[in-house]
Amino acid sequence: MRYGFDIGGTKIAFAVYNEQLTLLESEVYATPAHDYDAFLALITRLVLQADARFGSQANVGLGFPGVLDGRGNILAPNVPAIHGRDLLSDLQQRLNRAVYGDNDANCFLLSEYHGGAVSGSQLALGLTLGTGMGGALIYEGRLVNSDRAGCGEFGHGPVGADVLLRHPGLPLYPCGCGRIACLETYVSGTGLARLYRHFGGHECDGKAIIAAWLRGETEAKCCMDTYFDVLGAGLGTLMTQLDPDAVVLGGSLGETTWLHEALAERLPAYMMKGIEPAPVRPPVFGGAGGVRGAALLAGQPDLPFSSPV
Ligand SMILES: [Zn+2]
Repeated sequence: MRYGFDIGGTKIAFAVYNEQLTLLESEVYATPAHDYDAFLALITRLVLQADARFGSQANVGLGFPGVLDGRGNILAPNVPAIHGRDLLSDLQQRLNRAVYGDNDANCFLLSEYHGGAVSGSQLALGLTLGTGMGGALIYEGRLVNSDRAGCGEFGHGPVGADVLLRHPGLPLYPCGCGRIACLETYVSGTGLARLYRHFGGHECDGKAIIAAWLRGETEAKCCMDTYFDVLGAGLGTLMTQLDPDAVVLGGSLGETTWLHEALAERLPAYMMKGIEPAPVRPPVFGGAGGVRGAALLAGQPDLPFSSPV
């Protein structure tokens, strides 16, 4: 038995799996966004109730939108209740068992590596395109990470000069990380909406922009042409520099078929001459990948940087 939590700014998904990773039950709860004690109480209650229902005391894995700072504290500005807190230690004390935690993009890729889109790849790259942009790497079955918590932040680096030359009017958006014109500021869901407004579109979400693009609207077409160019160039650079065997794209934008088709057409132009792009695949587990990956953390204590606190 293993318990997984996928913690978001507004929702927490909780799921129970058996040792064969068959899903036994899952529920979604509102995140106590600003109250750490309420957050601890919710996780503790869900775990102890599941213990009683299943007659077990399973280990716990948590995926969260942030990083561990090297001293065990979670840095997750989008979930203020746990930001800067030693959440894993506090939960371990309350639950009297091992508690593991990792970045949600790492959990997503871990899940897709185990029976999913990049199963068996020696070097697998995962990117999530949602509110922000997450990234992760697995090499020979293990998440690539360090105690300094920086690996996989592939969205935080400026777009290339070639992109700026092709799109001289491209706005240079400030990024939450402190830099300017980061890849994330264009290719996340937030970035897509921002680009659409830049090209004269109205305020709306990614789904509405795609619908407008499919209808042939001029503003949406300009927006999506730029979007594909920025994402293709960013992904092409990552492929050239990392040389992954396979790539999986997740998040609300990454799961869509149109994105994979558009990238497959464009990626060869963004690669080093003579180098074929790695296959880019949609996720097998979709939105459940994060919580499934968190449960995998709980079941694999030998994974590096996921050790009990
Ligand atoms: Zn950034």
